[in-house]
Amino acid sequence: MYLFWRPADLSAAWTAIHNLVSLALASRVVQVAAGLALTATIGARLLERGSRIPTGGPKVDLVEVVSERMPAPVFAVSDVAALDLGRHLRRRPNAPAFVDELLSSAIAAGASDVHIQPQDIHTRVAWRVRGELSELLTAPSAHHDLVVRRIKILAGLTTYQTDLPQDGRFPIDTPKGAVDVRVSVLPTYHGEKVVMRLARTGDGLIDLTQLGMPESLRLDFEELLAQPQGLVILTGPTGCGKTTTLYSALSYINLNRGDTTSIATIEDPIEIDLPFLSQTQVDHAVGLSFGQTLRAVLRQDPNVMMVGEIRDQETAHTAVEAGLSGHLILTTLHSDSTAGVFNRLIDMGVEPFLASSSVLAAVSQRLVRRLCTECRQPVESDRKTMNRMIQAGINATAAESLSFFTAPGCGACGDTGLAGVTAIFELLRMTPRLRDLVTDKVATPKIAEIAVEEGMTPLFRAAILEAVAGTISLDEALRVVG
Ligand SMILES: [Zn+2]
Repeated sequence: MYLFWRPADLSAAWTAIHNLVSLALASRVVQVAAGLALTATIGARLLERGSRIPTGGPKVDLVEVVSERMPAPVFAVSDVAALDLGRHLRRRPNAPAFVDELLSSAIAAGASDVHIQPQDIHTRVAWRVRGELSELLTAPSAHHDLVVRRIKILAGLTTYQTDLPQDGRFPIDTPKGAVDVRVSVLPTYHGEKVVMRLARTGDGLIDLTQLGMPESLRLDFEELLAQPQGLVILTGPTGCGKTTTLYSALSYINLNRGDTTSIATIEDPIEIDLPFLSQTQVDHAVGLSFGQTLRAVLRQDPNVMMVGEIRDQETAHTAVEAGLSGHLILTTLHSDSTAGVFNRLIDMGVEPFLASSSVLAAVSQRLVRRLCTECRQPVESDRKTMNRMIQAGINATAAESLSFFTAPGCGACGDTGLAGVTAIFELLRMTPRLRDLVTDKVATPKIAEIAVEEGMTPLFRAAILEAVAGTISLDEALRVVG
């Protein structure tokens, strides 16, 4: 066209184009063609939307579904981690982000496990920090399956299978080292319950001197670890730090006895991977229980064995036999107190004289939160404190003479008044007098009473001593043992 018609200047060209467009728009043909094109586009879009299959696979679908259905969760505790999690959720309200934030908050808070439990109209999310399970938030039930599905994908589990227990794991890299997340999924009446255990591979091993044992107790404990045979039984509620103590003890044995000592463990699950140990994991799916695995490992005749837990007759019998035939056995047992482990063994079918001759000692422990030493200060004991002490079994004159500490919070502790965790211990060492009592099947309270006469510092007293020393507050002491 440029060959036949050259506009004189820019405004002439503009006028020509304007006239041409006006002419085209006035034409009936152009109007109809434009209308048809628009209708076809809208029709095609509608058809495409109708036939789009909601696979649930791509992340985008999940984002849409959750953001439509996910009202803000209700937070049960107002701690900093929960508030952070809430803020993240409002910003990125979808299942993958929820799981990411939940796990990183749990790791930051030092949680040992995270529980996601479906209930009738809500899902309850809780975590365990320093041995205490606390509810973090409740979310609407619609949210539950999406979150469980995301966790299953991460742990390599079958997402469509919802009626069988499943176990899996996945690692998370953090600036402080890798954290291994062990996932256990269990069908319940309202849906699948998920428990995620957070195993820190880097900082799990703590030196025996760093556990918080008073020196005399630690020296006694070290002496026990030097014994050629017998059982050392740890007891206490879940999350009280028993496993940490067991690993510290094994590490101590390895350092002190040298490479000629063979050490084997049977665990469920293996919590810390240690090169100096031969570790075996119990596998119920293939019928490898603690008892069966223990017998298999014993055939290799290790000097020292750590048995994760004695929870059935077979394991109890085998462990006691092994403890009497040249093996040092470190293990845990569910019992209310150190004095209670003997009758617990007897309840599991162990002969009283075997229980009394195989057990070297029982140890009980609790984790406690230390007071911040920067802002710690003595506190006047008031009438209320006094009454609580007397209620807890301390006589009135002793209660009057004791003083305690508090920490109001400062910059160093982030205004919490707390700085880290330590443990308090009770160590019951077998003595000839106690051995006779166990053989005679004497009731647990009597064993406890005589153990104190024989020199044991009971857990309660150990906690009060830490409070008097200012390591912990009196409230904390009474909370864990009161
Ligand atoms: Zn402070």
